[in-house]
Amino acid sequence: MTEHGKTPVTVLGLGAMGTALVEALLAAGHPVTAWNRTASRAEGVAAKGASVASTVSEALAANKTVIACLLDYDSVHEVLDPVASGLEGRQLINLTNGTPGQAREMSAWAEELGAEYLDGGIMAVPPMIGTPGAFIFYSGSGTVFGQARTALDTFGGVNYLGADPGLAPLHDIALLSGMYGNFIGVIQAFALVGSAGVKAREFAPLLRGWMDAMSGFLERTAELIDDGDYERGVVSNIGMQAAAFPNLAKAAEEQGISAELLAPLQPLMDKRVAAGHGAEDLVGVIELLKK
Ligand code: NDP
Repeated sequence: MTEHGKTPVTVLGLGAMGTALVEALLAAGHPVTAWNRTASRAEGVAAKGASVASTVSEALAANKTVIACLLDYDSVHEVLDPVASGLEGRQLINLTNGTPGQAREMSAWAEELGAEYLDGGIMAVPPMIGTPGAFIFYSGSGTVFGQARTALDTFGGVNYLGADPGLAPLHDIALLSGMYGNFIGVIQAFALVGSAGVKAREFAPLLRGWMDAMSGFLERTAELIDDGDYERGVVSNIGMQAAAFPNLAKAAEEQGISAELLAPLQPLMDKRVAAGHGAEDLVGVIELLKK
């Protein structure tokens, strides 16, 4: 830490996200040493005050706190493996998107090299970094989280989930799963009305209102899951829903639209009903996802 309480940070990766992270750090007065495979991408942050390292070794040697934000875990290994000894004594904070298993593997690898490891899952797009709308899940070394906290706070809200490095990517991927599930429905809905010439922007307020109303059931659904009781207070049982759901595919077909995005849910609903759970809430299909 500098005498002004700022943490000097090395950032590996100056793609859209790495650049946003560097800019947030610089704006808050944290000294940054940046490295990127394609050197020309460092010009923008250099103009804003970052030191640019010409090699990864130089970047690692510059600071104890090292943030990696590269395309995927393979690229993190590709960058760090050849200079692995340079990680000794470093605090590696990996904000690259990955899976819980990849995070645990990388944590063990870093620890063997004498580095402490913190994983992070960024829940924001680059323009949100540094605004209150952004937040990042962290898990792994609590020491690293504590010591890097003032620097990490510049990115947005933080949520430290515990010592298991896999927890941050787990929560990240869970939120992304919810998001992609929403996107599936939204894309299908727009395709369907579009097939009848309805403009997407005309339909958007209706879809927004409906999705907002449906999201109001989230907490109730969570209670059913936690209590393992899928039948309590059911108003739209899965038997009824499984009978109506084929209409989504039929309507799509009539309109010349594919229903492939929605198709996987039908067999799960049918299986649940066939097993005698027709009076339950739809969320009971969660039992069929457990392998
Ligand atoms: P970009 O595609 O903009 O940048 C990718 C970065 O990875 C570049 O710095 C690129 O270097 C580097 N890279 C790729 N492969 C290699 C390699 N083999 N060796 C060395 N460097 C490599 O991606 P983002 O910056 O947007 O994303 C970075 C991470 O952040 C990803 O894991 C992404 O999932 C995550 N993320 C991104 C979000 C977003 O909305 N952008 C949101 C949340 C998370 P070079 O310039 O040389 O190609």
